[in-house]
Amino acid sequence: MQVNDVELTISAVSPAQYPDTNLGEVAFVGRSNVGKSSLINTLLQRNKMARTSSTPGKTQTLNFYLLNQELYFVDVPGFGYAKVSKKARAEFAAMIEEYLQTRQQLGGVVQLVDARHEPTDLDISMYEYLRYYEVPVLVVGTKIDKVKKSQWNKSESIHRKGLGLQPGDDWVPFSATNKVGQDAVWEWIDQHATG
Ligand code: GDP
Repeated sequence: MQVNDVELTISAVSPAQYPDTNLGEVAFVGRSNVGKSSLINTLLQRNKMARTSSTPGKTQTLNFYLLNQELYFVDVPGFGYAKVSKKARAEFAAMIEEYLQTRQQLGGVVQLVDARHEPTDLDISMYEYLRYYEVPVLVVGTKIDKVKKSQWNKSESIHRKGLGLQPGDDWVPFSATNKVGQDAVWEWIDQHATG
């Protein structure tokens, strides 16, 4: 998709604030520092649209970006940031749970994992959680430019096995540095973000 127009419509903390539309939506989840802002900015063809969400103390919000007046990207706050308090963590869990449970327009979730490392317990719980809610998931292995091409298959199989990826859930290697995987991620979004 050629993104001609992007607008941060709202930073929401509760369902009453979600945009009141029937447009399709795709959400992005991942641990802090996994490369989520970089992925979103790459897909939006913008440098600094999505902000890094890992700043401690900052209010954690669901950021709704409207693209071409056609579909929404929902940037879910990065989870697992070490310095975030237990209370903030619980609030985050409640916020995402509420969103996943209630949002009819949600067509799928892009879950980011670091292609260089095995999935962490947090990655695994997040994936299980998404399966529980029966949301279609695309797992994106980020920072693939740091993995030798000969190791890409190994990285994929480690993640498929570690997360217990279901048949039908895709895994795509991605790099914000050299744009590998950009088209594959867009293709998946185009297929799933139908309102
Ligand atoms: P977020 O916290 O998940 O939003 O992560 P950011 O997008 O802010 O990225 C975290 C760090 O990883 C930054 O230092 C980025 O420059 C780096 N990074 C993000 N994507 C890539 C990538 O594709 N390749 C490499 N080599 N580094 C990346």
